[in-house]
Amino acid sequence: MAERTPWSLSGALRGVFAKKTIDADTWDDLEDSLITADFGPDITDAIVTELRAKVARYSTTDPKDLHRMLREGIEERLSKLDPTLNLSARPAVVLVVGVNGVGKTTTIGKFAKFLRVYDRSVLIGAADTFRAAAVEQLATWAERAGADIVKPQAQGQDPASVAFQTVERAINTGTEIVIIDTAGRLQTKGGLMDELTKIRRVIEKQTAISEVLLVLDATTGQNGLAQAEAFIEHAGVTGLVLTKLDGSAKGGFVLAVQEKTGIPIKLVGQGEGINDLTGFTPHVFAQKLVG
Ligand code: GDP
Ligand code: GDP
Ligand code: MG
Repeated sequence: MAERTPWSLSGALRGVFAKKTIDADTWDDLEDSLITADFGPDITDAIVTELRAKVARYSTTDPKDLHRMLREGIEERLSKLDPTLNLSARPAVVLVVGVNGVGKTTTIGKFAKFLRVYDRSVLIGAADTFRAAAVEQLATWAERAGADIVKPQAQGQDPASVAFQTVERAINTGTEIVIIDTAGRLQTKGGLMDELTKIRRVIEKQTAISEVLLVLDATTGQNGLAQAEAFIEHAGVTGLVLTKLDGSAKGGFVLAVQEKTGIPIKLVGQGEGINDLTGFTPHVFAQKLVG
């Protein structure tokens, strides 16, 4: 897997932790690094306050202790939510939502491949019927992943009817996992939320929805989160997917997004290749983030 970690703080903090002793500069440098990495002022403040208290409690002046405490503190915070995908229903229906361009269709291709590697049968529904190109892009990914696809019979067909037909076919053929792509833009936000509500309603006529995954572009950080507010309010989101971490310097966004939404990160995309998707493992992530 082509994995780059531009979002790691380890380079920025190397000088801080290489010093002989913890001093006033240590705290300033740590705070600056956390802010720069998009942890946000509140979380930065909470982390620094907690670390100051810990350093005092253990009466240590060794930056190596501080380094370890930072890593453990971040891991502990990241671990508060469960990143496990709920895919045990048959079929397990996964709805993928988010604003335009964040990486929904690409994520679906990678996720289908990920599931095929584990020998799950996968049916993809092309319920972004707004643009013909969107359907073709998804069909290309489905083929590469070895998954089947249900396409609209006509451009602009009711997305809910594509979703209905996809789930119907999965039930009839005994397909294990259904992944449904959706549009990120309509004339109005209200229109888009109504469309998602209708998609959910027609699916639920047949079976429960296992996951509603909200895709967020990590390069946009906390601004991107503001754009996704409506989905969190109206779409019944059960998990987050962070994409484009391979091009993001905003490692702190990962923690900020979980704490602000209270929704667990379940998948992470780090590249445009079909294998560039992983589950979210707080221990591994904290290690890479802090070094
Ligand atoms: P959608 O509009 O949400 O369906 O977004 P797309 O899946 O069409 O992706 C938009 C662009 O983001 C495409 O050029 C993708 O190749 C790119 N993209 C998606 N995921 C990633 C990722 O994890 N890393 C990088 N570098 N690019 C990505
Ligand atoms: P409306 O008919 O567009 O107002 O909305 P509905 O909620 O009734 O359904 C939306 C779409 O989902 C429809 O266009 C149908 O294609 C599909 N659908 C919903 N319920 C059923 C059903 O019971 N059987 C079939 N075959 N399709 C359904
Ligand atoms: Mg798309």
